[in-house]
Amino acid sequence: MGARILYSSMKPETEPLGPENIIGFTTGILTGTFSPLGSSFTAVGKSPLTGTWGDSRAGGYFGAELKCAGFDAIFFYGRSSKPVYLWVNDGKAEIEDASGIWGKDVVETENFLKGQHGDNRVQVASIGPAGERLSLISCIITDRGRAAGRSGLGAIMGSKNLKAVAARGTGKIPIANHDKLMDLRKRFIDLAKEEREFYWEYFMKYGTSGATAMLSTSGDSPCRNWTGAASIDFPNAEKVSDDNVIKYMTGKYGCHGCPMPCGGYVKVESGPYACEAMKPQYETLAAFGALLLNDNVEAILLINEICNRYGLDTISTGSAIAFAIECYLNGLITKEDTGEVELAWGNADSIVELTRMVARREGFGAVLADGVRVAASKIGKGSERFAVHVAGQELPMHDPKLTPTFGSAYLLDATPGRHTQGFEMYLDTLSGAKMPSFPEIKYDSTGKGDGMASMAHFNHVVNSLGVCQFPSNLCAIQGTPSLADFANAATGWNMTMEELLVCGERIACMRQAFNVREGFKPTDFRLPDRAIGKPPLASGPLKGVTVEIGNWVREYCRSADWDYGTGKPSERKLTRLGLADVANDLYEK
Ligand code: SF4
Repeated sequence: MGARILYSSMKPETEPLGPENIIGFTTGILTGTFSPLGSSFTAVGKSPLTGTWGDSRAGGYFGAELKCAGFDAIFFYGRSSKPVYLWVNDGKAEIEDASGIWGKDVVETENFLKGQHGDNRVQVASIGPAGERLSLISCIITDRGRAAGRSGLGAIMGSKNLKAVAARGTGKIPIANHDKLMDLRKRFIDLAKEEREFYWEYFMKYGTSGATAMLSTSGDSPCRNWTGAASIDFPNAEKVSDDNVIKYMTGKYGCHGCPMPCGGYVKVESGPYACEAMKPQYETLAAFGALLLNDNVEAILLINEICNRYGLDTISTGSAIAFAIECYLNGLITKEDTGEVELAWGNADSIVELTRMVARREGFGAVLADGVRVAASKIGKGSERFAVHVAGQELPMHDPKLTPTFGSAYLLDATPGRHTQGFEMYLDTLSGAKMPSFPEIKYDSTGKGDGMASMAHFNHVVNSLGVCQFPSNLCAIQGTPSLADFANAATGWNMTMEELLVCGERIACMRQAFNVREGFKPTDFRLPDRAIGKPPLASGPLKGVTVEIGNWVREYCRSADWDYGTGKPSERKLTRLGLADVANDLYEK
């Protein structure tokens, strides 16, 4: 819905921070339904960070509340002359003055809006000061720490003077067959617990923080701004992983209706990093851990809270700091530039300080606040070689040298540099193995296109239904209800999983068409040399590995029926998917 509406309503070459850009908050069929998976909403817009299609998913309770208030989606056009928020309440949507909360962080904003409307059940999606100051790596936060983190969408809200959307609904989401849905939920949970007992228990105990040390050892986590091998250069990865994270927990957190809550609240009682925060995810622990050689977990807990409160994407922020450290150590910037902050790998104090500066867009933080591509263009002196990004978006914490399919997703997804749209490896991981295990490295791209395209389509289905990827991966278990079963019970439809995957294919094409119309093609995007092993690492599990990523991209395009040179889905395919109007646009008829 988001891709279709933005494609149809927005002209090509729209300025991302101009009033013509549109920001949408979309839910899915299963959002808020108590299917075991339906917690999410997705924010959509033209990305200010990359200039491409942008979207980002978040869990929490906001999506469910929006639907209970009677709205499947909300799209904002134009621009307000003063700070505002949208108050959505039982079928009504009203623009309200936000001048009292402009400048506040997201926790203060949430608390204010709950108080303002006299109801603690009000759910809020908001930006912090980073989004207000148009940081291109700013995000949208709900429930104080659930982030629609990628694509820089917080800056679109900031450009519209839109501080927040607050929702409260007392309505019930209509379900075609409620008993059936509850029966499917029970079957899903019973089977998942039985067949994946270890995964289920482990994930509930640690969340993704439980994978941090394992992914460091395996080589998945990039290290020292993608120049090191975490197993050798970051030997204390366990200090920022699993038990060493959850020992700070004061309580559990789970998104709406989730049967395997993976989140938590943490507290550092005293010392320089004292804070009360949300438990960080793997991406944050790796971006401020192995990537910076920082094994101070208390500092990372505080950094996570700073990023959440100010509304910064933690992947991009950690990457921007890694870039700055490398520039500093190579003499491209000095203490004079950083405001006397001494940058060094593993220096927790300076990493915290620089995070604060980025969040406030102060001093040298202003140079980093738009991501590494912009920072490199400001610093010059060849600093681009330390800027790890695709099309301006910093890379996630998964190394294509271990899993080349991630690399192809970084290049080919309509939101470049994105890790949640193409995990072929998850098929391997969950197809019988028990966590923690790791699939064999498969470097031969031959014949992998179909698998990559199928996983991309599956992930589009997951995101568009409004479900979370972690439990939905358990649908791969034999006998478990499929996403189609849940969607059918909710809607009364009678779709097969194959038909649902065609919807995923259509979504992939719709998002891609947005980019093609903007003039982007796959060959415009390139992975930084260090992400594909040029030159290869000298040590660690990925020693000597170079990935010919172009082969993987070609395989994907062949299977998806996209032209490698132009990125256009074929006319035949667009027509088959019911997108004849899009075919007419792309083929100029
Ligand atoms: Fe939220 Fe975690 Fe449950 Fe996903 S698995 S819905 S992120 S609590």
